[in-house]
Amino acid sequence: MNVHDSEKMLGVLSENGYSEAEGPENADLVIFNTCAIREKAEQKFYSQLGRTKLLKRGRKSLKIAVAGCVAQETKDKLIRRAPYVDFVIGPQNIHLISHMVTGRLQAGLFDDNQKLALQELAASRKSLIKAWVSIMYGCNNFCTYCIVPYTRGREVSRPSSSIISEVDDLAKRGYKEVTLLGQNVNSYKSDIDFPELLRKIDALKIDRIRFVTSHPRDFSEKLIEAIAELPHVCEHIHLPIQSGSDGILRLMNRGYTYREYLEKIDVLRKKIPAIAITADVITGFPGETAMDHEATMRAIREISFDGLFAFKFSARRGTKAYGMDGHIGDDLKSQRLSEILNLQEKITYKKNHVLEGTTQEVLIEGPSETDPSMLTGRTKTNKIVTISDNGETPGSYVVVRIDRARQHSLLGVNVSLDGVSAGS
Ligand code: SAM
Ligand code: SF4
Repeated sequence: MNVHDSEKMLGVLSENGYSEAEGPENADLVIFNTCAIREKAEQKFYSQLGRTKLLKRGRKSLKIAVAGCVAQETKDKLIRRAPYVDFVIGPQNIHLISHMVTGRLQAGLFDDNQKLALQELAASRKSLIKAWVSIMYGCNNFCTYCIVPYTRGREVSRPSSSIISEVDDLAKRGYKEVTLLGQNVNSYKSDIDFPELLRKIDALKIDRIRFVTSHPRDFSEKLIEAIAELPHVCEHIHLPIQSGSDGILRLMNRGYTYREYLEKIDVLRKKIPAIAITADVITGFPGETAMDHEATMRAIREISFDGLFAFKFSARRGTKAYGMDGHIGDDLKSQRLSEILNLQEKITYKKNHVLEGTTQEVLIEGPSETDPSMLTGRTKTNKIVTISDNGETPGSYVVVRIDRARQHSLLGVNVSLDGVSAGS
């Protein structure tokens, strides 16, 4: 979400005559787009900000802007702590960034997703193949650990006509894939609801449709039907579980029990057998006992996720969980985190191993980051596949026979020219 916010700010600025510099050394303006979800990200930002201060010391004309959730959360405190910062702009005001840097606006920290949702922002996208599209802003859920509702404000959905015309335009410009973005896309509501929005987007000429993030409480049968029926909606769901313990889920204010989560997974797998399921987990929430942790481990084993993002609980000032009893020491959190990650590594590898010998349709994205002599792409189920570079162009589809499972990706051979059909 933050990466796409950066693309939107770049888009707004380039419409106002700015262009992207190669690095901070030759920039007139440096923008930090910050994340406040966990303390670590916030600390990293402050140390980078310190380095930019040194740059500014040598070049007084350099302007520094701080955007994103840390800006929203700390406001005046940030200016006091780092008086050399020129502009502070919250995530709900990104459309005003050019007004701010041209001096037409002073502080600009308005809490108004209503206005943001009505903006048609021309994002300056890095990829020519895959695009993010925001469908809503903010969040109303107030999970007790989470800072997002405080920094990104109340939930507001973009009008469906505006989203549809953005995706239509992307399709016409040759984009192959869109990912619809929102903190809880399942509660999207304008003149239509989220499954209806998916149906309208599926009718456009875009090959692959993805969406994040789904909240398990609002994940409806109507949505499962839409995913099952719509040919362009990818067979992958990211459905954060957060914990396998009902007691912890209640303390987190997640609004579902483990049993209810499991029932939704069962329906999903029945209706869409090829579906890949990934999730987020938080370990070491205040009051989490050894039994609660074991419940999470059991859930991971029982559900057998295709992938998992696991985080140590990070206490965020201003959230309910910050003031709860039973905060857990970092050593224990680290130990639980590594148990979770080790378990998931085995499951992911096993799942990848099952794909050996199958053929998969892969959308080629470009050179592999770890080995630029190879190409990578993704299956509809969002698995990363690496093949030898035989001149396949980014944005093309190839049929790949999977030869070897690796921990985080699959190694394969392009067999498109042999006439093998996809998805077997
Ligand atoms: N709205 C989405 C949802 O409900 O899952 C995603 C929000 S958040 C940006 C992404 C993930 O960060 C969450 O699913 C949660 O696992 C994690 N997270 C949020 N607050 C956290 C905190 N205080 N400490 C550790 N992890 C946190
Ligand atoms: Fe945070 Fe919960 Fe909203 Fe996700 S649904 S952004 S975790 S409050």
